[in-house]
Order: sequence, then structure tokens, then C-alpha cells
Amino acid sequence: MIPPSWVDLDGEIVPGDQARVSVFNHGFLFGDSVYDVIRTYDGRPSRVADHLDRLDASAAAIGLQIPVDRDTLRTRIERLVGHGGFAESYIRVVVTRGDGAPNIDPSVAGPPHVLIIVMTLPVPPAALYETGVDVVLVGGVRRPSREQIKSGNYLTSVMAKQEASARDAFEGVMLNADGMLAEASTSNVFCVAGTRLLTPPLAAGILEGITRRHILRLAREDGVTVEERPLAPDELTGADEAFLSSTIKEVLAIASVDGRPLPACPGPLTRRLAARYGAWVRADGAAP
Ligand code: PMP
Repeated sequence: MIPPSWVDLDGEIVPGDQARVSVFNHGFLFGDSVYDVIRTYDGRPSRVADHLDRLDASAAAIGLQIPVDRDTLRTRIERLVGHGGFAESYIRVVVTRGDGAPNIDPSVAGPPHVLIIVMTLPVPPAALYETGVDVVLVGGVRRPSREQIKSGNYLTSVMAKQEASARDAFEGVMLNADGMLAEASTSNVFCVAGTRLLTPPLAAGILEGITRRHILRLAREDGVTVEERPLAPDELTGADEAFLSSTIKEVLAIASVDGRPLPACPGPLTRRLAARYGAWVRADGAAP
């Protein structure tokens, strides 16, 4: 089911259910595309520069030239959000390789397409922020050299989510080839041990979440001891508290890991960082 939505397809606004790309599009055929997800606060796109910087980095990593400049992209985002008129918007910016023969070689593809999708922001139900969510450790393996590219190639995440759902959990947390904690399907993972905040380093094979980055900054500013280091799975299962972070979810407490409840949910540090991040992102963080 396509949700009520609007799409800017190479500069032209069309209703979401009428937006089309070719079946010969290399993003469709090979996942040869990059994207980023932005959200609004008070109807205004938040941290656009952070997200477009990451989109640029993802595109550069796969040798994909974004065919429009930053100002044009910003103008299209603003215009589409205004056109959509949703109370709060989910904004997905996709740059896809172009259309061509079903040959993996990107040089056979035509010019890249730029599309922006806007729809109602799908935030988790408010009650989940009080109860927390169940997560399970899943089988998919995160690869350090790849996960910092936010590409259309999300099968490991898709399968993590499927495995989590099959095991009645909200999210699946993936490990890397060394068996250390990496991240969840579309969020970063934090644990708390005593008063210390722990999270896997980028080298563990994770996307550098923009929420993660700002949570780490706010925690350090608040004098919290932060450890970004390889974490064994039992540091999550044995944590005092833990949470997920993402642009859409903000800070979402973890209630249990592999069916074992954590001692505190939301724990005191989770609550404090959720409040700190929530206040910041609605004020300074809403700055473009
Ligand atoms: N990891 C993955 C794999 C993701 O898809 C996301 C969502 N973009 C995140 C982490 C969280 O990133 P952010 O805080 O920038 O939304």
C-alpha cells in the first residue's frame, strides 16, 4: 500500500502513487542508489545540512554524481514539504544511478535521477517510549567498509527486521564479522553500564547516525563518560539500560534483549538523554 505522499521526480511534483521510475533503473535492479531521511519539526525540515552532507558522502563513495546542486535540492525539499502540507513530514531524498541495460557496470546507465518523497512522519506510538521495545540479536553481519554508505542496498537490514518480527521483537541488532555489536536495522545502539554510555565505534560497521552523533555530543557536554569502543554482545544483554537512536525514533529505550528484560527501562540516563536530545533537536536542531 502506497501511503498518501508526494514525490519530486527530477524537479516535477507528482502524487506518490503516480511516481514512476523505469524497471531498467539501476537503483531498482542493483540497489545502485543512495538516500537519506530527513524529518520536520514544527513543519520545518530539521538538520538538512547534516543529512545532505551524508548523502554527498554516500554518493561520493559509490562514484555517483548528484546532478543538482545543494541549493536546488534544498529548494525542492522545502517546496515539496509545503506542497504536501502534512503536519510533520518524513522526507526521503534518493539519488539513483539512472536507467540502462541490466549490466552491473554503472557506466551503461543514463543520467542519475533525483527523487524526494514526502509523507506523514511515521513516529512510533508514544506508549513505546514508556514501555521500551524488545530487541533480538540477529544473524546478519555488518561490514565495516560498507555500512557508512547509505545506499539502496538494505537487504541485511530488511532481513534483520524480518528475523526480529518472526521472533516477536521490534528490532534486530546485528553484529560484525568479529562478533561485536554493530547496529539495528535502521538505528544505532547504545548501552549504559553504571554511569557510562557505551556505543560501538564507526569501525564496527555502522552508519554514522546523525542522532548518534548529537547524542554523543550532548552526553559529553553533560559530563557523561562516553566509551565508543568494540562492544561484545553480552555488554548489551548485561547492560543496566539501553536504547536505539534514529532521526525518526529519536531515543527509544530497549526493554529486553533476546527475551531477557534489562533492569531499567527507560533507565535514568536514557531518560535524561532522550529529554536532552528532544529539547535540543526541537530548538537548535531545527535550524536548517
Ligand atoms: N543505522 C542505519 C542502518 C540506519 O538506516 C539509520 C537511519 N538512517 C541509522 C543507523 C540512524 O541514523 P540517523 O540517526 O541519521 O537517522
